[in-house]
Amino acid sequence: MPSSSLLEIRGWIHDASAILVMTGAGISADSGVPTFRGAGGLWRQHRPEELATAEAFARDPALVWAWYDWRRSLISGCAPNAAHQALVALEERCPRFLLATQNVDGLHGLAGSRDVIELHGAIFTTRCQRCGASREDRSFSRAAPPRCAACGGPERPGVVWFGESLPVGAMERAADAALTSDLTLIIGTSGVVYPAAGLAELAHRAGKRVVIVNLDPIEQVGFADGFLQGRAADVVPALVD
Ligand code: NAD
Ligand code: ZN
Repeated sequence: MPSSSLLEIRGWIHDASAILVMTGAGISADSGVPTFRGAGGLWRQHRPEELATAEAFARDPALVWAWYDWRRSLISGCAPNAAHQALVALEERCPRFLLATQNVDGLHGLAGSRDVIELHGAIFTTRCQRCGASREDRSFSRAAPPRCAACGGPERPGVVWFGESLPVGAMERAADAALTSDLTLIIGTSGVVYPAAGLAELAHRAGKRVVIVNLDPIEQVGFADGFLQGRAADVVPALVD
């Protein structure tokens, strides 16, 4: 059974000189950003798995673009919460620290985290499907996907869709950190989206400590030394401050 003692797990985090943090939609849920699998995971009767794919975008670009516009509009109104902020403080005092996130909302950067790997890209960026040029895009009120200013090609959201590979080097860096850090802290992810979900097991098999913070027990709790059940915005500051 993993420890559920806040005091004990705080001690582990305090003593660690190298930490990998992995976050998912749950950390941003406390900022009002809907998760995919919780309430609010449906949009006009579509499930995210039917919209966040290259096939869906090819079939119906306007529909997929409208969904991203809707998500950008929601996220534009959200601010980092106490959990994002606690991770900024942890980065400042931990000698070797890496934050890998599955979130595309940019809230870690907005909070002030410096070394962030965005495993699934960034929702406020757009990428040309012809020339690959990428740019910041904060708008959320277009009927159809925009065209690239450089080559006129069709643009797509700068995120990683289901079935696509992660940005080159991103997963390698996170996996290396899982193997070499004293402690891997996994916050607010359902642990069903691979390869990111494999980090807990990787760290565990390397003999490193694994701590999970989630509203519900997830499958990876089987690999964890510590599990704290609760809201990220409550638990993470209590762990770190
Ligand atoms: P998910 O929606 O599959 O799971 C969210 C997890 O967070 C669940 O395990 C849930 O129990 C937990 N959770 C919910 N509220 C919480 C809270 N307040 N505190 C702690 N835990 C809480 O999300 P996922 O695992 O990140 O994976 C789904 C994919 O969806 C990712 O690839 C990601 O790119 C994308 N996504 C991103 C965002 C975002 O950028 N904020 C939002 C939704 C989905
Ligand atoms: Zn282009």
